[in-house]
Amino acid sequence: DPLLDFRNVAMQFPNGTVALSGVDLTVKRGEFVTVVGPSGCGKSTLLRIASGLENASEGTATLATKRIGYVFQDATLLPWRTVQSNVELLAELNGQPKKARAAKARAAIDLVGLSGFEQNLPKELSGGMKMRTSLARSFTLDPELFLFDEPFGALDEITRERLGDELLRIFVEQQFAALFITHSVAEAVYLSTRVVVMSGRPGRIVDTFEVPFEHPRD
Ligand code: ADP
Ligand code: ADP
Repeated sequence: DPLLDFRNVAMQFPNGTVALSGVDLTVKRGEFVTVVGPSGCGKSTLLRIASGLENASEGTATLATKRIGYVFQDATLLPWRTVQSNVELLAELNGQPKKARAAKARAAIDLVGLSGFEQNLPKELSGGMKMRTSLARSFTLDPELFLFDEPFGALDEITRERLGDELLRIFVEQQFAALFITHSVAEAVYLSTRVVVMSGRPGRIVDTFEVPFEHPRD
């Protein structure tokens, strides 16, 4: 069963702007679905509806799990907290005991390749490392579904590629479900098992294609 199921979803904001129309979309475990399209076609709106932050004005958006990892373009780290303490934040807000969340955070830090930087402050990190920290934090609640809103958008091309490779490695290993938004077609094709192309105002899905199995990521 899909973890995320959109049926004929439309979104009209109170000011009258229609951001989405007739969107059908499902994401299952083991699927890395990328949504690509120009600025303003409703990608972020789609992701906010997927997360439950926003309600569709038409159709149904069903989320079959509460374990969601949400990663934004802006790494959203607290500047006065170390890497370790930033990664522990969600688990802390969830009431996990100190020892358990510290262990969870260390495993996540290791997963994203940041071991050795636990005690550094965000200002001491490169952009790529800040994003790794943010990524690590999103792993601490064992998400089944990841929602990525242009997570690498603020990074230079080389760092983007490196982080994309890392994310693919983790995906191949863990087989979660992912919905990833980008305006880069190359990034979409490289990362995903399915590419969904959006366009227009209001935004609609104009094309969908599965990425062949014999993909460079193997
Ligand atoms: P994208 O992520 O593809 O750039 P968005 O989902 O951010 O697109 O926006 C889609 C459209 O909806 C845009 O025209 C945007 O101005 C409009 N929009 C987004 N949020 C709101 C809102 N809260 N109220 C009114 N219009 C909005
Ligand atoms: P960038 O640092 O260029 O943004 P990455 O975030 O992909 O690129 O970094 C790759 C790895 O290189 C990091 O996981 C980290 O282990 C190491 N690294 C990055 N910057 C530094 C640094 N300033 N000092 C030591 N190691 C670093």
